[in-house]
Amino acid sequence: MAKGGSRFGAGRPGYRIKDVHTRSIDVRRWHRDGLLRGSYFGWQWSDPETGQQTASIGVHPAAQSVTLSYTVGSEQRQPTIELTTTSCTFGGSRLWFQCPNCHARCAKLFLRGGHFACRKCQRISYQSQSEDEIGRLWRAQAKIEKRLGDRLSKPKFMRQRTYDGLRERYWQIEWAREEALYACAARLGFTL
Ligand SMILES: [Zn+2]
Repeated sequence: MAKGGSRFGAGRPGYRIKDVHTRSIDVRRWHRDGLLRGSYFGWQWSDPETGQQTASIGVHPAAQSVTLSYTVGSEQRQPTIELTTTSCTFGGSRLWFQCPNCHARCAKLFLRGGHFACRKCQRISYQSQSEDEIGRLWRAQAKIEKRLGDRLSKPKFMRQRTYDGLRERYWQIEWAREEALYACAARLGFTL
């Protein structure tokens, strides 16, 4: 049990915020852009509306880690984030950050309260198109289920044509939902 207020994240508000409202770093993007091969690069965030730079950090890549440097108020911070790799099912390998707080593998780290940590540690909820899409499809499917009988059977007084149409729609949604789920998982770095 942690004592006092020095525990990571102590004093942070307990509510979750959406990832579109946060500053994050993404190891996949850095890797893809070849930034990790150099010895230093700068990373900036900008206001999505004005395009003006709002914050920046310096990044020093090493063999198995990156050291970030930034200031919070008047304090200079230089956390070192470990990198790990896992091999992919279809060959190659995938690179991850190791969350400095819980040591979980993650593709993205979020800056909150002056610290970088994973989504879970920072209590940040997903906000993405595919997730909205999955939710919408779930609801559409549930609506059809309500109109049908047990295990999608035909209710006694429903016309056959209506029933066939609903069944067809149900399976179309099921398929679209799977697609959206795969797309979502792939973006998060999972292979289903
Ligand atoms: Zn974490």
